[in-house]
Amino acid sequence: MNRRGRRAQEIRDALDGGELRVAYQPVVELHGGQLTGLEALLRWQHPDRGLMMPNEILPVAESTGLILGIGEWVLTQACRDLQQWRQLYGSAIPHVTVNVSPFRVMASGFQTTVERVLQMTRTDPADIFLEVTESTLLEDGPRANSVLQQIKDLGVGLILDDFGTGYSSLNYLRRFPFDLLKIDRAFTKSLESDESTRKIVAGTIDLAHVLELEVVVEGVETARQLTQVIDLGTDRAQGYYLCPPLPADQIKQRILETAAETGPIRFPLPERATGN
Ligand code: C2E
Ligand code: MG
Ligand code: MG
Repeated sequence: MNRRGRRAQEIRDALDGGELRVAYQPVVELHGGQLTGLEALLRWQHPDRGLMMPNEILPVAESTGLILGIGEWVLTQACRDLQQWRQLYGSAIPHVTVNVSPFRVMASGFQTTVERVLQMTRTDPADIFLEVTESTLLEDGPRANSVLQQIKDLGVGLILDDFGTGYSSLNYLRRFPFDLLKIDRAFTKSLESDESTRKIVAGTIDLAHVLELEVVVEGVETARQLTQVIDLGTDRAQGYYLCPPLPADQIKQRILETAAETGPIRFPLPERATGN
């Protein structure tokens, strides 16, 4: 068996053997600092190699079709975790967002799988957003559009992830049924140093707002970047500065348990943001 084949087998064993995990990163609303959602991110708790990241799993999972099983597992786990948090803490977590690979969207039965998982976990479709990347829309736009429309018809929200990294086309924003646009962290990184990046992000935000899409900026690592994205009119943000991705039990301990005492979960923002 070659290296790729061995890795595929390891991933299959990890899925069957319960070694996969979901980490969650808070997404924060920038008008008042309130938690709006958690992004579910795949992790692999390897017995010898420790915590492994998606880039060590996804390429092989996608080329072998294992992503179908993994994707369904992540969605199911995210729905279950959300249900558990809801029971304990009410609506402190408005929604969970789950990344979906282009291969999964375009392979048959996507809508059926999503519907089945939602029913099985008794999850309200309005509590789930799926994140897809631009590459999903490239290969067969009309088919992608019809699949995404089916997902929308279930009542599930849609996010266009990593916006600006692919073949960004204004047409995607207009034609496809997205609710939110997530600006890639490559832009966030050069906000401070590069005036043209600032202009591009500002223009993208204005355009998204014209199309009635909310904008999330990802990869916010510093207070200065947070101030900048707020000044540019961004609706929501996520990044290490606000909170890194955390295992489910830490989300519970560090975030939800505090909230149970203090009411809605708020993250401190630079003063300007709350208008004080
Ligand atoms: P993404 O959906 O754009 O997720 C955001 C990535 O940025 C995550 O990396 C997150 O850990 C990282 N991140 C968050 N805040 C910061 C920050 O302030 N600075 C920097 N430099 N990075 C930050 P991660 O977890 O390694 O995931 C990488 C990509 O793998 C994701 O990008 C997503 O495309 C994919 N992915 C993750 N989980 C899944 C999954 O369950 N299914 C599928 N199909 N793809 C997944
Ligand atoms: Mg994402
Ligand atoms: Mg992204």
